[in-house]
Amino acid sequence: MCPVNAINMVVDRDKGVYRTVVDSKKCVGCGVCYKVCPGHSVDFEELNKVLFDRQAQSSVLGSYLSCFSGYSTDNNLRYDSSSGGLVTQLLISALERGIIDGALITVMDDGNPLRPHSFIARTQEEIISSVGAKYCPVPVNIMLKEILNTQEGQKFAIVGMPCQIQGIRKAELVNKYLKKKIVLHLGLFCTHGISFLGTLAALKERGIKEDQVQSIKYRFGDFPPGKTLIRSNNEDRIINHLEFWNALLSIGIDAIPARCRMCIDQTSELADISIGSGWFAYKINNQINYSVGVIRNTVGKAFIQEIKSANKIDIFPVDPGALALFEKTQRGDKKNKYQYLLFFLKLFAKKYPVYRSKLLKSEIKMNLKLWLKALNFYLMGCVNIKEKE
Ligand SMILES: Cc1cc2nc3c(=O)[nH]c(=O)nc-3n(C[C@H](O)[C@H](O)[C@H](O)COP(=O)(O)OP(=O)(O)OC[C@H]3O[C@@H](n4cnc5c(N)ncnc54)[C@H](O)[C@@H]3O)c2cc1C
Ligand code: SF4
Ligand code: SF4
Repeated sequence: MCPVNAINMVVDRDKGVYRTVVDSKKCVGCGVCYKVCPGHSVDFEELNKVLFDRQAQSSVLGSYLSCFSGYSTDNNLRYDSSSGGLVTQLLISALERGIIDGALITVMDDGNPLRPHSFIARTQEEIISSVGAKYCPVPVNIMLKEILNTQEGQKFAIVGMPCQIQGIRKAELVNKYLKKKIVLHLGLFCTHGISFLGTLAALKERGIKEDQVQSIKYRFGDFPPGKTLIRSNNEDRIINHLEFWNALLSIGIDAIPARCRMCIDQTSELADISIGSGWFAYKINNQINYSVGVIRNTVGKAFIQEIKSANKIDIFPVDPGALALFEKTQRGDKKNKYQYLLFFLKLFAKKYPVYRSKLLKSEIKMNLKLWLKALNFYLMGCVNIKEKE
């Protein structure tokens, strides 16, 4: 969104994440980057009002109309995806019906197999190439400029993590033309991201060096648990997806980027439709290769109904209270965890994102376990964050 292209995203190899580098010779100090950056601040109250005309009902689900579980009726797609293939199916169907001219999606890079990149897919084949979650950092939002540069009247869908959707919604407040162009926001659920160090540790545990990797497919096949496919030295290795990540335990939460520790959005609260893994469907009904979803507005509702009527997806209603409770029990409540962490961030005058959300309570309970967890989180990850400006 920078008007003079003064911002570059470069990989910090020590931390395994992208960081922004601003060319001070080019920067004209317009402040747009601050206005659109979700790492600086997110006003959930304002955005909920603008997008949904109400405030969020649930600290885990945010603002919703209804929830569902389901899958793509294309079995090849369903079993090649992260969970139910819903995201890819919804994009293909939107393209087929002329709802969109393209979709901003993410693939692993052929020339740089451990790095993903995002691009605007304009054909069914290109959309299918993005199937599956990429468990590493992705600078999706640098492609917003490409969307702005497309032909007048063309419309797009975007797929992103909760933080990426926040950035896109903020950018749409600043740039009304962008808002007109993006007609469908599909958000993924996210407990936390994983830095590039996470993948490197998992590969190292199996004796695979970074420069030997030809390709990686993080998750596909029967889910849960799903499989991970690594091609190195012309040999394919298929590993149980959960076992692949066991290495994370050995390097601990260092593989979780500092920003993710300060994140309060589990379910892409600002998307039109949010989609997550089918753990709920599996644990409650023993169903495999399902995704779960949250419909947040009339755009999402009408779209899902249209694609269901065309028999491209099978979906079933899920009680929002049950899904929220499940997510909370399985993964904890990010907003609650953040309250405790914030205490230490403020105490030691560290930088942190400023959130405005009615669901962030000003008082926190005397819960020793959560205090200790927050202190550990703080000491492990946030000490390196630069002093508060
Ligand atoms: C880092 C990460 C953490 C996640 N954590 C959780 C979690 O805690 N709980 C949960 O329920 N679900 C989580 N998910 C979502 C889950 O893994 C699936 O992506 C989701 O269920 C959609 O499955 P699907 O089969 O419908 O999608 P598919 O049809 O497989 O499509 C996947 C889509 O996601 C996009 N995509 C993949 N990786 C990224 C990325 N890193 N950034 C932006 N876009 C991407 C692709 O472009 C593609 O369009 C996470 C995903 C990621 C990438
Ligand atoms: S202040 Fe404006 S010109 Fe400078 S980096 Fe940010 S967006 Fe670009
Ligand atoms: S935890 Fe939050 S900041 Fe980290 S990748 Fe997920 S949505 Fe983004």
